[in-house]
Amino acid sequence: MSTVIVIGASYAGLAAALELRHRLPVSDTVTVVSANENFIFHPSLIWVVQGEREPADISFPIRPVLEEAGIEFICAQLEAINPQAKTVSLSSPEILGYDKLLIATGGEWEWDAVPGLWPKPRGHTVSILSPWDAMAARNDWQALLAHPGPVVIGATLNAGLYGAAYEFALNMDIALRKAGVRDQTSITFVTPEPFLGHLGHGGLGNSRQIIKEAFSNKQIAAITEAQIERVEAEAVILAGRRQRLSSKFTMLVPPFQGIKPVRATPNLGDERGRIPVDDTYRSAGYPDIFAAGVAIQVKPEASSLLPCDVLIPGTVSAEMGRVAAANIAADLGHGWPVRKPADALKAFYVLDSGSHGLFMSLGSQSWLNVQLNVPGPWSHWAKVIAEKYQMWQIQSGRY
Ligand SMILES: Cc1cc2nc3c(=O)[nH]c(=O)nc-3n(C[C@H](O)[C@H](O)[C@H](O)COP(=O)(O)OP(=O)(O)OC[C@H]3O[C@@H](n4cnc5c(N)ncnc54)[C@H](O)[C@@H]3O)c2cc1C
Repeated sequence: MSTVIVIGASYAGLAAALELRHRLPVSDTVTVVSANENFIFHPSLIWVVQGEREPADISFPIRPVLEEAGIEFICAQLEAINPQAKTVSLSSPEILGYDKLLIATGGEWEWDAVPGLWPKPRGHTVSILSPWDAMAARNDWQALLAHPGPVVIGATLNAGLYGAAYEFALNMDIALRKAGVRDQTSITFVTPEPFLGHLGHGGLGNSRQIIKEAFSNKQIAAITEAQIERVEAEAVILAGRRQRLSSKFTMLVPPFQGIKPVRATPNLGDERGRIPVDDTYRSAGYPDIFAAGVAIQVKPEASSLLPCDVLIPGTVSAEMGRVAAANIAADLGHGWPVRKPADALKAFYVLDSGSHGLFMSLGSQSWLNVQLNVPGPWSHWAKVIAEKYQMWQIQSGRY
């Protein structure tokens, strides 16, 4: 009888837990611990600020999904990991022993990376990175409609979630047009990437050309290789060139580090708390600890003047979780090990611009490498269908 603990119940953690339950005998226990009772479909957060989605539309409780599958669920915060004793301490407060541990906790946003970067009222930005932040940003959206002015959207040094920033900028253009105030505003996109669509990967297919064209069509100005010095109440100040961008509405994706308990465990995370793993998603430091999703260390292969992290989509995070689960099961005597490095995993990303879309299907095999740029609102509908399908898949335990 073995005990496997999965920390985190999002793309990587849920996919891993369901795969583990499928591969392990019922005598083995699979327990999921997560700080949140709900699964949140992140790609649709870009639509919450302008009221196209309510948080309830894009989230659901995970306990019934897990319990129906025979997986124990504990809603609690991971506080400490003791790899020598093979235990985890929770906020509940509980100490659980494990035979194998899978860390799928994503990470923490580094809001202190730039002065003024925190969402209001602590700083001067709005955030779309959680349903709570996006709801809080609705007031700022209303204020912008009442008194239109310049908008700045983008990413800081070491950020990786470029896709969300691009989509938010493109959708902001549409929302301002619908509200009839686009001519009274400007949108400026600032990014450390060497070119638009670099995404930390050196570009994905023709992402550079597609995003450049989309921005040009929508009159979105772009500043690449930009380092933000500070954010003020109505301005974004760029370092080096000392450029001052006026802004009435600022949304910037911050860098991302591993969670505190990972950073506090010697030899588990790197200097940013991201977990180095091998091709089986086993931690480099501890053979009984695995990690999957955005919690792992993925080093950018493409060079850039300013540091850029790598975009890791939800589909890739889930796939990592499944591979890690297969290897945990193999360790416990069920099935064979599977080796799949992060850059060989299937990725699927629809970048919605409302009127033009980028569909990216990426993988190590050439037939998987497809990037399409198709005019028309299809990308919006593809994203809506992906939302409905993936939420159904997860909610029905078929993920
Ligand atoms: C606004 C936005 C838009 C996005 N758009 C897209 C898109 O269009 N397409 C796409 O493919 N990807 C998109 N992504 C990226 C995608 O959401 C990530 O790749 C994915 O969330 C990573 O999944 P994960 O399971 O590794 O981590 P996360 O989703 O970050 O989940 C971490 C889990 O760990 C739990 N946790 C964290 N800390 C603790 C702790 N201390 N104790 C216990 N539990 C803890 C959390 O509650 C959560 O359940 C977007 C992300 C955002 C924020």
